[in-house]
Amino acid sequence: MSKCLLCKSNFKRQINYEIIFSFVKSKEKYACSDCLQKFVKKKGIVCSGCNKEINKKGLCSDCIKWQQKYAGNILDNKAIYQYNEAFHDLMVQYKRYGDYVLSYVLAELVNSLPKADYYVPIPSSPSHLRKRGFETIASIYQKFVPLTDLLVKAETEKAQGEKNRQERLLTKQTFSAIRNKNVRGKILLLDDIYTTGRTLYHARDAVLEAYPNCKINSFTISR
Ligand SMILES: [Zn+2]
Ligand SMILES: [Zn+2]
Repeated sequence: MSKCLLCKSNFKRQINYEIIFSFVKSKEKYACSDCLQKFVKKKGIVCSGCNKEINKKGLCSDCIKWQQKYAGNILDNKAIYQYNEAFHDLMVQYKRYGDYVLSYVLAELVNSLPKADYYVPIPSSPSHLRKRGFETIASIYQKFVPLTDLLVKAETEKAQGEKNRQERLLTKQTFSAIRNKNVRGKILLLDDIYTTGRTLYHARDAVLEAYPNCKINSFTISR
């Protein structure tokens, strides 16, 4: 028997062949099937830029704005899950209350990633890192891929999660890239949620400035 990290009930582990044959090293299941089924994978038509669920093929309104701002060079973001109540609650528990064990549930939800030469997590600000004692994004993804720390985040007055949409979009660049690393090829930026895209576009700007020949895409658990 295992204890579900989300509802705390005891549950019997099922043999999951998907996990056995994927590159996830973990043999454990951290949440019961009742809890896991509340996380809904994206289905139907999604935006070709960021994977938001939309009504007709093409780009969502956010990506159209990024397309204008970045002269057509939009970020190719892959996202797996709908941003629903279950996902929202999980992220509040994980990030606001710094509940580290939930990184295992999040890793279980991700299960596999698009192929890249370098996996670069979005870092926390110094004050958030001090408060929680761990990097929220790296803690999820380091469970199944080797990570490359390329980004540094400067201190901000307000966290992205505390801002409204307009404030998010007006956020100034807070990332800088660590230079002089021998990095080339395909980089995948890793984050938890794609909200407006502001964070990931800033991260891409910083990495591209230091490594202009790299191809940069991104991955988020939810959009
Ligand atoms: Zn449960
Ligand atoms: Zn989009």
